[in-house]
Amino acid sequence: IWSLLFFLCFNTFLYAQKKPALTKNEDRVEALLAKMTLEEKVGQLNQYTGERLATGPVTVNSTKYADIKEGKVGSMLNVRGAKDTRDVQKIAMQSRLKIPLLFSLDVIHGYRVTFPIPLAEASSWDLKAIEQSARVAATEAAASGIHWTFAPMVDISRDPRWGRVMEGAGEDTYLGSLIARARVRGFQGKGLGNLDAVMACAKHFAAYGAAIAGRDYNTVDMSDRLLWEVYLPPFKAAADEGVATFMNSFNDLNGIPATGNRYLQRDILKGKWNYPGFVVSDWGSIREMIPHGFAKDNKEAALLAITAGSDMDMESHSYIENLVQLVKEQKVPLNLVDDAVRRILLKKFELGLFEDPYRFSNEAREKKILNSDENRKAALEVAEKSIVLLKNQNQLLPLSKDLKTIAVIGPLAKSNNDMKGFWSVTWDNDKLVSLYEGLQNKVGKNTQLLYAEGCGISDTSKAGFAAAIEAAKKADIVVMAVGETFDMSGEGKSRTSIGIPGIQEDLIKAVKATGKPVVVLIMAGRPLIFNWTADHADAILYTWWLGSEAGNAMSSVLYGDYNPAGKLPISFPRSVGQIPIYYSAKNTGRPSLNEHDIAYRSTYIDMPNSPRYAFGYGLSYTSFSLSDLVLNKSKIGDGENLTVSCTLKNTGNYAGEEVVQLYIQDIFASVTRPVKELKDFQKVMLKPGESKTLSFIVDKEKLSFYNQQMKWGTEPGAFKIMIGDSSDHIILKGDFELVY
Ligand code: BGC
Repeated sequence: IWSLLFFLCFNTFLYAQKKPALTKNEDRVEALLAKMTLEEKVGQLNQYTGERLATGPVTVNSTKYADIKEGKVGSMLNVRGAKDTRDVQKIAMQSRLKIPLLFSLDVIHGYRVTFPIPLAEASSWDLKAIEQSARVAATEAAASGIHWTFAPMVDISRDPRWGRVMEGAGEDTYLGSLIARARVRGFQGKGLGNLDAVMACAKHFAAYGAAIAGRDYNTVDMSDRLLWEVYLPPFKAAADEGVATFMNSFNDLNGIPATGNRYLQRDILKGKWNYPGFVVSDWGSIREMIPHGFAKDNKEAALLAITAGSDMDMESHSYIENLVQLVKEQKVPLNLVDDAVRRILLKKFELGLFEDPYRFSNEAREKKILNSDENRKAALEVAEKSIVLLKNQNQLLPLSKDLKTIAVIGPLAKSNNDMKGFWSVTWDNDKLVSLYEGLQNKVGKNTQLLYAEGCGISDTSKAGFAAAIEAAKKADIVVMAVGETFDMSGEGKSRTSIGIPGIQEDLIKAVKATGKPVVVLIMAGRPLIFNWTADHADAILYTWWLGSEAGNAMSSVLYGDYNPAGKLPISFPRSVGQIPIYYSAKNTGRPSLNEHDIAYRSTYIDMPNSPRYAFGYGLSYTSFSLSDLVLNKSKIGDGENLTVSCTLKNTGNYAGEEVVQLYIQDIFASVTRPVKELKDFQKVMLKPGESKTLSFIVDKEKLSFYNQQMKWGTEPGAFKIMIGDSSDHIILKGDFELVY
């Protein structure tokens, strides 16, 4: 018996010691690593940008050219196109070990064909459409030699002053996490190595969207609870979906810049989450730790960044100039460098670049795939789904084909260029369809379009109003296109006043004064504030920036060929003074004085707490009813699921889709909980008169939260279930108890 016990224990001990066997690619990484000099290793951690001008050929300056040839560069960003990537890869093939370069680019919402901006796509609440958008972008970019996109941005943001809200999925963690996963699936397709897949990158790790006062790059100060509950889950979701890379961030988080933040990168990402991919710094963010007051010089910045877990240096030149020396001085252990190199090389092997470094740079494929009819069709479909109908007084929309004259008015009516939105890839011969062109494509022979610009976007002169009024008077109906230029939202584009810029709202007033029915289309990269228009326009469509097929998508919605079904993924404030504003707020102890507000919130004396348009809000040309709420149990045990069902019916005259939203409130807990949290939704298409029973499963995960000890789990007690068509329009309510 003793020898048997010994045998068992010894074997268990041996088993525990044994590391998991290396995969074939990991073996290849080890073999290559063994051949590399320290200089070559550091080279893999270095990323440079190409100096490609928007229209000119790629230029890699002589220093960078020499560095690539010497094996001192692991990746290039901003080199694109089959030819250019091939030419630059050829330089790398002259290096001693011939390690291929990774080509990366910000492919954020489309590559050659531009899709709606990410916040617009989030308004579709259509995960398949969002995945498809990323799929098309990946297919095009990969055919153009790109291996890696710096997307998706999964930063939650509750501040529309922040210009980069346009690049995310809005304010909600649950929706944002699902969208993060959909985008990763879309970009990475069936997996790295396929010729239509690019590596995705979850950015910006972390909390970049919570910059104080909405000022881009600004300090972030937040509790660990908020970080874990709201800001980290979309990153975890992306990691769980297998996102190949992460990007860290410019911001300081609770006193420590994200790029030099060990807690974020080593403890959470590579530790607790055991993330196997690599982390790229944001552009120059290693060097930026000097002005942050965190590193005394670029050498210390390199030391802090590599120690914190930043694997690749994007354009700070900190690693390439200092890491070799830091290792020689024994300030940076070699194994930190090796770990970073391993992570990067593994991706190069997975992409198949060692088999053929030029396999993505294929002119014939590029010619066939880019801007194909199929891709444009996909962009049109996603654009239609991204539009949110905010108002439709007296069922003014959809427009009748019998209209004789339509006045198309406003500074964005004939704009092609603004339709691309911020963060689109620039092309010499872009074809973006304006609203006016879209209407021309749609209207019948008997409808005449009149056009007047009215004013420029940022104009102060009302000189153009007269012509606009004139056009309106001659028309049966007026369609107005107002909003931001494409570069008023985006990186570094924070604004303090987020009304419709310039005198555009005055133009709407002047046109409305003619007595003609007015449909307003608002194009922007963020929620704008437009109270007068919200009160007085007859119909309002929020279109964001819709990309290549913008005009066709808008006219398809105007004419009812597509029945709008978008829902806002972010709250629209009434006033800048309400920001940050979000639906999943908490109660205070004080009853609200304003009857419109959810009880127990502190209130303003001059304005309700409620937003102008709530998270989850959006109309349709048809109407729906929700009824027959059934909870299969009134009490559930720990780990037991609750099934919630209800009936959705199309009670109107058009076929259409509704997004049915399920919210939960944990009424009492050891830490206070939000009054409402989105936990599920379904987007359902119904014909007029048709109804469907929907069922939702509420599992343990959906009832869990971080307790006082920051442990994730449930607590017994009472919960509320709320089902509605918007966060501020709950139609069905039920209660249940978790008992254990
Ligand atoms: C942005 C990143 C982007 C990078 C490369 C930075 O300024 O913050 O999101 O990926 O530039 O273009």
